[in-house]
Amino acid sequence: MRTITTVAEMTAARDAAAGSVGLVPTMGFLHEGHLSLVRDARAGCDTVAVSIFVNPAQFGPGEDLDRYPRDEERDLALLRDEGVDLVFMPPPEEVYPPGFGDWVEVRGPIADRLEGEHRPGHFRGVATVVARLFRIVRPDRAYFGEKDAQQLRVIRRLMRDLGLPVDVVGRPIVREPDGLAMSSRNAYLSPDDRARALSLSRSLAEAEQSVREGERDASYIREAARRTLDAAGVGVDYVSVADENTLEELETIDRPALLLLAVRVGATRLIDNTLLVP
Ligand code: AMP
Repeated sequence: MRTITTVAEMTAARDAAAGSVGLVPTMGFLHEGHLSLVRDARAGCDTVAVSIFVNPAQFGPGEDLDRYPRDEERDLALLRDEGVDLVFMPPPEEVYPPGFGDWVEVRGPIADRLEGEHRPGHFRGVATVVARLFRIVRPDRAYFGEKDAQQLRVIRRLMRDLGLPVDVVGRPIVREPDGLAMSSRNAYLSPDDRARALSLSRSLAEAEQSVREGERDASYIREAARRTLDAAGVGVDYVSVADENTLEELETIDRPALLLLAVRVGATRLIDNTLLVP
C-alpha cells in the first residue's frame, strides 16, 4: 500500500495503475461504513484508491472542522488490512493551491433543500472536492454511502451535468448493532447523547412499519417521526419525506420515498435516512 500526499505523485501513480481504478473518498476516522465501500471497491476494481481528506470547503463557519476526529495511523492499518493499493491524503494546499478560485455548484431541489438549506455552501464544497479528486485520481468507479443520501444524488447529478465518465456506486448504510448509523461524528457523543441518538433509527423503523401497514400520508410519517425525535430531546433540523430521485417533498407516498432526518444531539449534528417503499 502506497501513501501519497501530493497531486503530482497521485497523478503519476494513477498513470501507472493497471486495469480499472476504484476510488473511495473519505474524511478519515474510518469505521465499518467506510470499510464496506472499500471492500466493494476491492471486489470490483483492479486498483483501489482511498482518499482521506477533511475538506475545509464543505464545513461552514462554527462547524466542527477544527475538532473533526482524526487517527491517521489507525486508518492506514485498517486500509492495509483491506488490501488497498493507494491512499491519497493530501494537505489542504495540494487540493486548493494558493489562488484557487473555481467552484462547482450544483443547484436545484436536489442541492438547495435539506442539507443545502441547513449548511449553506456545504454542497459547493462537496461538489468542488469531488470534481478535484476525480480529476486527480481519474477513477473508473467511485463508491459513496447512502448514509449521505443527498450527497450521493448531488454527485450523480454532477456526473451527468458535466459528463464526467465515472460510474458512481451507492452502498447501503452500515449500522451499529443497536441501530445507530455509523459515523465518524459518533465519537463526539456522551453516553447520554448516544442514547438520545437512537431516536433517529427508531423513527426510521417506525416509519417503515407504518408504510408496511399501508400508511401513505407523508405528513403522518413526518409528524410521527418528529414526535419520536422530540420525545428523545434532540433538536430537529428537518424531517423530510421526499421523492427518492429528485428529493422533492411528497404529500403521498405513491413511489419509493426517502425519509431523511437531521438532528442536533448536544453539540453534535447527526443525519440518517431510510427508503420507504409503498
Ligand atoms: P465521510 O468520511 O463521513 O465523508 O464518509 C465517506 C463516505 O463513507 C461517504 O460516501 C459516506 O456516505 C460513507 N459512509 C459514512 N458512514 C457510512 C455508513 N454508516 N454506512 C455506509 N456508508 C457510510
